[in-house]
Amino acid sequence: MNPPVPDPILYDYLIVGGGASGLSLACHLAQEPRLADKRVLLIEAEAKDQNDRTWSFWADQPTPYDALAAGEWSKIAFRAPGFERVFDLGRYRYRTIRGLDFYRFAHQQMAARPAQFTVVRAQVQNLRDTHRTEVRATTSDGREFVARYAFDSRPPIVEPDSNKYRYQLQHFVGWEIETTRPVFDPAVVEFMDFRGAQHHEARFMYVLPFTARRALIEYTLFSAERLPPAEYEAALIDYLRQNLGLTPDEYRVVEREVGAIPMMDHPLPAAASARVLHLGTRAGRAKPSTGYAFQRMQAHSARLVAALAATGHPPQDPTGDRWQFGLFDTLLLDIMQRRGETVRDIFQRLFERNPVQRILRFLDEETTWRENLQIMLSVESGPFVRSIWHVLRGRPGQR
Ligand SMILES: Cc1cc2nc3c(=O)[nH]c(=O)nc-3n(C[C@H](O)[C@H](O)[C@H](O)COP(=O)(O)OP(=O)(O)OC[C@H]3O[C@@H](n4cnc5c(N)ncnc54)[C@H](O)[C@@H]3O)c2cc1C
Repeated sequence: MNPPVPDPILYDYLIVGGGASGLSLACHLAQEPRLADKRVLLIEAEAKDQNDRTWSFWADQPTPYDALAAGEWSKIAFRAPGFERVFDLGRYRYRTIRGLDFYRFAHQQMAARPAQFTVVRAQVQNLRDTHRTEVRATTSDGREFVARYAFDSRPPIVEPDSNKYRYQLQHFVGWEIETTRPVFDPAVVEFMDFRGAQHHEARFMYVLPFTARRALIEYTLFSAERLPPAEYEAALIDYLRQNLGLTPDEYRVVEREVGAIPMMDHPLPAAASARVLHLGTRAGRAKPSTGYAFQRMQAHSARLVAALAATGHPPQDPTGDRWQFGLFDTLLLDIMQRRGETVRDIFQRLFERNPVQRILRFLDEETTWRENLQIMLSVESGPFVRSIWHVLRGRPGQR
């Protein structure tokens, strides 16, 4: 085999993977004037010209991507058999961004700064910290790139150890549909509709209404295994018939979204070494108990860029995660794994007994000890006490 062909430039930052987290970091770097003289190389294996996912998130501050939003809402609904309520989000907004719009936006940001950014389409095969002053990346087409720091967003390789950690999935099939008559309330996101059968798991519908006649509807499960595709589709058809009175000839599926986001407490370290840092899913930015990742990736990028601009180095603690929220995630995963059917009741109590802003801040890991206590006291303690016991004994609960 021929030796790799070296690129003569020493880059300051190498970003491996131009998906959500790699491009988020690129956008944050582009917006930081103190780093305008740095050379950034982004290596991405795919063309990224498909709308392969839709990101939704809530925020109480403007974000750099607000102009891209395909939808923005100020109300969300929670529904379960014993409790239903529409919540006004107050200062929060719930927003949705189409993946393709985000990819294009980030590439425009980079193209507008040609002296700062270089984009290469290639597959990184090997990334190593030479333990001198640089990182070397080799690609499958035989090139080699050198940088001072690398930010790696390739999917993590996880070898499950189910005697120690909990492994669940958030899996879903979504249809974006257009209906022949107005049926959706475009002001309200159906955040979690748990009124359907649970089958000893946590199963809910999620609806993003773009207009009265167009919405994304997702059948979402928190469980260990995916379903056969026909089961998700049957649940979507049932929901549309029972809740909106729609028969299949009254709607058309214009886009499909299929996904499975790992929900686990398996450690995903934020760095491989002093010069190779992780991003996105690889850095544990998908919240283990909810699967939400987009805003966590923004916060992570902002933290990295602030430290690089101020000190020239990444922060000592790259994510700033607080351990008590990791414990809450583990407890909820333990309950999901042990008795998935109780998850609906836990969410019901949460929404019944807390202001919605407190729940969102708790999920954003921004609540105080006092508020965390209020949250814990609002849910039934039994399942949590049993899971605390499993955590203390160091073995995940089993069904
Ligand atoms: C269908 C779906 C919907 C989701 N919806 C939401 C949501 O609504 N809200 C939310 O907060 N989170 C959501 N998530 C979770 C999370 O935000 C996404 O998974 C997000 O894309 C993760 O970002 P990432 O950068 O870790 O991975 P990705 O976005 O997948 O980016 C990784 C990139 O690395 C590239 N790559 C991989 N290997 C190599 C290699 N060897 N060399 C070069 N490049 C490589 C890939 O091609 C890819 O572009 C969703 C996930 C999925 C799958």
